Amino acid sequence: MTQRFSTDVLVIGGGVAGLAAALHLADYARVTVLCKGDIESASSHWAQGGIASVTDPDDSVSAHVQDTLAAGAGLCDEAVVTQTVSRGPATIRQLGRWGVSFDSEDNEFHLTQEGGHSFRRIFHVADTTGRAITESLTHRVLDHPNIELITDRVAIDLINLNKLGRFPNRCAGAYVLNRSTNHVEVFQARFVVLATGGASKVYLYTSNPDSSTGDGIAMAWRAGCRIANMEFNQFHPTCLYHPHAKSFLISEAVRGEGGILRLPGGEPFMSRFDERLELAPRDVVARAIDFEMKRLGLDCVYLDISHRPQNFIDSHFPTIQARCREFGYNLAKEPIPVVPAAHYTCGGVLVDSNGATDVPGLYAIGEVSCTGLHGANRLASNSLLECLVFGEAAAVEIRTHLHEKPIEATIPHWDESEVTDSDEDVLIAHNWEELRRFMWDYVGIVRTDKRLQRAQRRIEMLKAEIHEYYSHYRVSNDLIELRNLIHVADLIVRSALTRQESRGLHFNLDHPERSEKNQDTILFPGYIDHLDVLKPVVG
Ligand SMILES: Cc1cc2nc3c(=O)[nH]c(=O)nc-3n(C[C@H](O)[C@H](O)[C@H](O)COP(=O)(O)OP(=O)(O)OC[C@H]3O[C@@H](n4cnc5c(N)ncnc54)[C@H](O)[C@@H]3O)c2cc1C
Repeated sequence: MTQRFSTDVLVIGGGVAGLAAALHLADYARVTVLCKGDIESASSHWAQGGIASVTDPDDSVSAHVQDTLAAGAGLCDEAVVTQTVSRGPATIRQLGRWGVSFDSEDNEFHLTQEGGHSFRRIFHVADTTGRAITESLTHRVLDHPNIELITDRVAIDLINLNKLGRFPNRCAGAYVLNRSTNHVEVFQARFVVLATGGASKVYLYTSNPDSSTGDGIAMAWRAGCRIANMEFNQFHPTCLYHPHAKSFLISEAVRGEGGILRLPGGEPFMSRFDERLELAPRDVVARAIDFEMKRLGLDCVYLDISHRPQNFIDSHFPTIQARCREFGYNLAKEPIPVVPAAHYTCGGVLVDSNGATDVPGLYAIGEVSCTGLHGANRLASNSLLECLVFGEAAAVEIRTHLHEKPIEATIPHWDESEVTDSDEDVLIAHNWEELRRFMWDYVGIVRTDKRLQRAQRRIEMLKAEIHEYYSHYRVSNDLIELRNLIHVADLIVRSALTRQESRGLHFNLDHPERSEKNQDTILFPGYIDHLDVLKPVVG
């Protein structure tokens, strides 16, 4: 019999967005936070550079707004940008109260500058800002009697009462795989908050941890939410190039502190692409590297900050330096090999200014969402800020309406009577590899119509195979993620084919110009797809 759990608010995801929402809710409601693995399974843990906020009197909120709008290439929602950026100082103070201690010198915060920012405004804890924030928030969460943090749980699908033929249209919980027991459990809640992070794992090379498989985006789509701007995938220009480095990220702050990109012969090349040189926005830098690598048939380019003294490198970039040392490089002595990798999903579940989705009772916060902050390209270090600001906004709204929604006690159990254990896991592994490879080759930094159409045909074939597999075999972590990845790939390709222009992170050689019309790509659910259906359930 399916195990059932009830809570006031179910938060799916234990990165910065989910943890912040839980902390803002916990004095008012019982909160359950689910995550796939430990805190390292979240991108949040790996954030290096920091969090952007205006505090210096010479800087201004309007300058931060303008920088964000400029990066977003005409698609940011200015009201949302202003709302988010204005909350920066209060958010930094809140982090202080939660125990985060940002780097400072002589009683002043040490602020760094990153690409696209016109001012030094990045708060950081050395180059491990994400770890410092997630550890502080996790301690608070574990200490709070009203919050239960449960790991090793993979949400499979959201429960929309309408999709079960009931009324009203409302999200009432989720079906969740317990990875320890391999059984599916039902979590029933008044409200559900999706905080599952991004979908960069859909690409072969990524800076993200394994959990970034777009589960929240795929689940929300299947539950009836609109999804927006999925063609805007940010590729980080500089990940360490080494067969065993698993796309370890070399923070933008290295370029902010004077790092120069060079060809193998030592020639700097950014001046041929942008007058802001290495501090141009990420998409410009990633495309410049991609262009040079393709032009010269290179495996990588080089990032050189060896003109800075050893003690500066060791104190500002301890983690990056330690990781480089593992592979025999010393940042202070030599240029290091770098390549671009998929890094951030700008699109996602379309939400309002409080994180509410189209399905009543369901919120989406952090990288899983599309709030209007990033537009066609995310400005560096704005995403942790977005996680925290929207985590709070969603919590405040849920608190206000908490007791208006009952906990639905009659959710059907998960039916496993017609499925068996798979004896062909090789199919899952093969489809994973194939999907991520063609997404990298055909839907990567530079696109063409032909490559996108080719990707679309392959997606259709894989969808049919995955559906067949999903219908006959017991769910597993890899099958759940693969099913979500194929959905996300489909949403990305359909969005990319819809956008007949080049803008921000979407660059199509067949449509190199930017259109005069600023328009989001919004995909509406309701297009019936055999992957949309819930696993058969018995009433
Ligand atoms: C290497 C790296 C460096 C970065 N540096 C910066 C930076 O300096 N500044 C900045 O602003 N941003 C940075 N970013 C981006 C930023 O870290 C992320 O956008 C942000 O942390 C996302 O937070 P989140 O809470 O939305 O999701 P995440 O932190 O990714 O957390 C997602 C959570 O959801 C869980 N989850 C996922 N699917 C399921 C499921 N089906 N069931 C249950 N749980 C699930 C995961 O286990 C995880 O706990 C960086 C990202 C990376 C990868």
